[in-house]
Amino acid sequence: MTTPSLGHPTLAEFGTTIFAERSALASALDAVNLGQGFPDHDGPAEVLEAARAAIAEGHNQYPPGIGVPALLQAVADHQRDWYGIDLDPTSQVLVTVGATEAIASVVLALLRPGDEVVVFEPYYDSYAATIALAGGDRRTVPLRFPDWAVDEAALRAAFSSRTRMVLLNSPHNPTGKVFTRDELELVARLAREHDALVVTDEVYEHLVFTDSPTPHVPMASLPGMHERTLTIGSAGKTFSVTGWKVGWVSGPADLVAAARAVKQFLTYVGSGPFQHATATGLGLPRPVFDRIAADLQAQRDRLCVGLTSMGLPISRPDGGYFVIADLADWGVDDALAWCRALPERAGVAAIPVSVFSDDKESVRSLVRFAHCKRPEVLDEGLRRLAKAR
Ligand SMILES: *Cc1c(COP(=O)(O)O)cnc(C)c1O
Repeated sequence: MTTPSLGHPTLAEFGTTIFAERSALASALDAVNLGQGFPDHDGPAEVLEAARAAIAEGHNQYPPGIGVPALLQAVADHQRDWYGIDLDPTSQVLVTVGATEAIASVVLALLRPGDEVVVFEPYYDSYAATIALAGGDRRTVPLRFPDWAVDEAALRAAFSSRTRMVLLNSPHNPTGKVFTRDELELVARLAREHDALVVTDEVYEHLVFTDSPTPHVPMASLPGMHERTLTIGSAGKTFSVTGWKVGWVSGPADLVAAARAVKQFLTYVGSGPFQHATATGLGLPRPVFDRIAADLQAQRDRLCVGLTSMGLPISRPDGGYFVIADLADWGVDDALAWCRALPERAGVAAIPVSVFSDDKESVRSLVRFAHCKRPEVLDEGLRRLAKAR
């Protein structure tokens, strides 16, 4: 039997995501999963309880297409209270099935085939796939280990007359970089010069550590950027409930409406009871958010100390779930192959940075480790890693 030819461009080249593949292998081998970025403990009790209550109260049928009113209002209130950004909850906010669907809706709605998208690399893997799905071209700007600073000349060179969009992520996965205000101003200036939109993925907005040299600055809060910026958030990262898949996008009403038109044919709606619980979560007092970031900071420190004490150069993240280490001194010059063999060899899973990069050569010895794990899990992971040397 022959396989029919697909005859048109598909996403087949993207295959199964490495996260799914590594996590499946890690669980089959009972390996310590420092690969995929999900916490191994539950989020705030109030948020979990609100989900149970939403089910008990009967919020179990299709929610409205743009999202439940309580969550639309909670997102608008959150943006105003934390960042001074004013939004009309009825026209400038759209609830999605995780940030992943927000990214897909926005990119599919706003790109025409041949449009260019400027992305910093390493980049979150769904960006490349979604841009390809929309027929767009990605123009990457490298951030380099270990400080990941924006190179102004490289950024300028990535813009052209075909630039339609900048797809930004701060705090950044996989590097843990928090973009400085100056860097964001530069992106903003170039976006205005080229009349480009900025889509900003801020799913780690509340996971910035107290010793970060810069706070999280939302792109939409910069002067002149509200009208050309779409901001994406997610309950998964904010409240340690990655399985809930509640995300949202906010920005100018016409752009949000365009994303809504796509979203309704991707999933129509999603996550009914969890939308109510997320609304409760976004309204919790600041100490709850601080506590989540503080716990994560302690886990970051534990993993950073452990990796450093094995002699590995690392870049200490200012936010998010991940630490990147350079394994060149261990003789690793193909981190992809090394990570592939690691679960069998040492009972640990980790992700090579090359899967987030077009220029694989420049990151060939870099490995991403997730620190959003319980202390005993981090310790066991480190113990096993030491044996993999
Ligand atoms: C986890 C993650 C997402 C996806 O968020 P979901 O709400 O789970 O869809 C998007 N962007 C980045 C940078 C992430 O790390």
